[in-house]
Amino acid sequence: MQEKIIHQRTWAHSASGKSIELYKKKHTPRAEQFQDSPILFVGGVHGDEPEGVHLATKLLEWLQENEKNETKKITPWILIPCLNPDGYSQNERTNGNGVDLNRNFPARDWEPLAKAPRYYPGPSPGSEPEIQALVKLIEDEKPHLIVHFHSWKPCVVYTGKTGAKAAEVLATGTGYECHEDIGYPTPGSLGQYGWLEHQIPVVCIEEQENIDLELVWPHFKIGLELLLTKEGT
Ligand SMILES: [Zn+2]
Repeated sequence: MQEKIIHQRTWAHSASGKSIELYKKKHTPRAEQFQDSPILFVGGVHGDEPEGVHLATKLLEWLQENEKNETKKITPWILIPCLNPDGYSQNERTNGNGVDLNRNFPARDWEPLAKAPRYYPGPSPGSEPEIQALVKLIEDEKPHLIVHFHSWKPCVVYTGKTGAKAAEVLATGTGYECHEDIGYPTPGSLGQYGWLEHQIPVVCIEEQENIDLELVWPHFKIGLELLLTKEGT
């Protein structure tokens, strides 16, 4: 019998004790070109970027619909719609401890000093429960690609040269440029952690901030579908 989508309502807890949800389907009736290891999708690293949570949620709906109709063969996947429910509930960038989760990863370049309070990296690398849970997930599941959803100036940024192709696929039809670097240092970020510590390429989608949410899924639907269905071709 075919495995169903697994849903963990409380995969982890936030700093303020909120539940963090996770969905996954690790064994898909996949085509031969797909890898055994999953792609990991993460929304809501920053709580004040609702575009990213929206995009992750719409992707989840597409995956659930695809599952129901068994329309397309897809690569194994794991999806966390909102890593930072503390920040998301308050429309704030940081978690309940005031930490920028995208500066708290235990990457070798983690720095204790931030250029502004909104980038506060926490008291030590990997101090936050959200990051501890995600680090354990990455170590256990060994995804071959990580994609996280943000909003800022529109672009698709990848960390690790092997992420260039996935970034280009994800940008299909958006007109957004792909860059290997966001243009400023991001010590202790998910990109730095994934690539420096595990050689997993990490793609960061930056949607236009404050865009009409109705436009977000149409922008990235084509690229996400291509990534999930045509990987490796
Ligand atoms: Zn962000």
